[in-house]
Amino acid sequence: MSWTLARRAERLNPSIIREILKVTERPGIISLAGGLPAAEGFPIEALREASDRVLTDAPREAMQYAASEGFGPLREWVAAEMATQGLHVPAGQVLITAGSQQGLDLCAKVLVDAGSTVAVESPTYLGALQAFAPYEPDFLPVACDDQGPLPQGLAAVRGARFLYVLPNFQNPSGRSIGEARRVALVEAAAKAGLPMLEDNPYGDLWYDAPPPAPLAARDPDNVVYLGSFSKVLVPGLRLGYVIAPPALFPKLLQAKQAADLHTPGYSQRMVHEVVRTGFLQQHLPAVRARYKGQRDAMRVALERHLQPLGCRWTVPAGGMFFWVELPAALDALALLPQAVDAGVAYVPGSAFFCADAQANTLRLSFVTVSPERIAQGIEALAGMLQRALQGEPVPAASA
Ligand code: PMP
Repeated sequence: MSWTLARRAERLNPSIIREILKVTERPGIISLAGGLPAAEGFPIEALREASDRVLTDAPREAMQYAASEGFGPLREWVAAEMATQGLHVPAGQVLITAGSQQGLDLCAKVLVDAGSTVAVESPTYLGALQAFAPYEPDFLPVACDDQGPLPQGLAAVRGARFLYVLPNFQNPSGRSIGEARRVALVEAAAKAGLPMLEDNPYGDLWYDAPPPAPLAARDPDNVVYLGSFSKVLVPGLRLGYVIAPPALFPKLLQAKQAADLHTPGYSQRMVHEVVRTGFLQQHLPAVRARYKGQRDAMRVALERHLQPLGCRWTVPAGGMFFWVELPAALDALALLPQAVDAGVAYVPGSAFFCADAQANTLRLSFVTVSPERIAQGIEALAGMLQRALQGEPVPAASA
């Protein structure tokens, strides 16, 4: 028996991050590679109580098939929450998904033909590249600076099906788009006839000041907004949402129906029970305080150990990641085995580019490691980089 794979299957690739994570699960490695939130902060007790309430009050409804759009009260909650952030949409435009990752897949399924152009930031979220790739787009990076896409760069991607953009604490670069840039970007996108997909799983994880209103708030008919409960609550329940303009919503809904009929009603009701009482207002400050302490520990460690080596970064104002530029001669992918030998792991930046990868970049997560271990990890990384800069032979990268 020989299986003939579909063309789209050839576009499916293992995530380099997941491959790296396997290595970094070895005991003793300080992993700054993961993209996971800190499990210590998960509100288990609140989830247990919510689960009890669901199974007591509405057990059969929770276990029955349910609407493809999502659980009505949760959709209402999302619409009300988004209104507080400046995005005013009826609950009827909220589609509950199995994580925002599914939202990315559904959007690409509905919007991308083989050979159509999808514009992306450079670098961008690897999981989005993976989600879009099976629909066989041609990826086109837009010109970016330290605030993300340059409005004047959008004319060059005119005709793309959409621009995928992460305005807050971008994965992987940690950068954010400021207020004035948002205004200019929305205007430039409208002028270029370029729809946008705004992915915002990290917006609530701000450490200095809350971010400006979403892009979608300024042009709700031209922007699809993707949100997630993964970073503010837990990722394991797989809950996210897509807020789509009326022109797109029915197609996304049909794609959702075809994909999995609906997001599990039990998880939706459980999360609704948790959030409806305002729980996030108490919970989020604790998550922010924890992550801010870890971010500051990493900033201090980077200044102490990596600055003298000529590395560069900008301090992220939220989210989970530092993006580090090594001296130009160094290749982060080629150096990863030595880093792991030195007891520390990161994700090579090249994984996040769809073209023209910058080999001398890497992503460091600060949220799952204690400040002490962050300091040790960065010191170990610096030791390895120092040896590399002194010209110890580095094997060529194989991928
Ligand atoms: N978008 C970005 C930028 C992410 O970093 C992630 C998770 N790492 C996702 C989407 C997917 O999140 P989820 O499916 O858990 O909502």
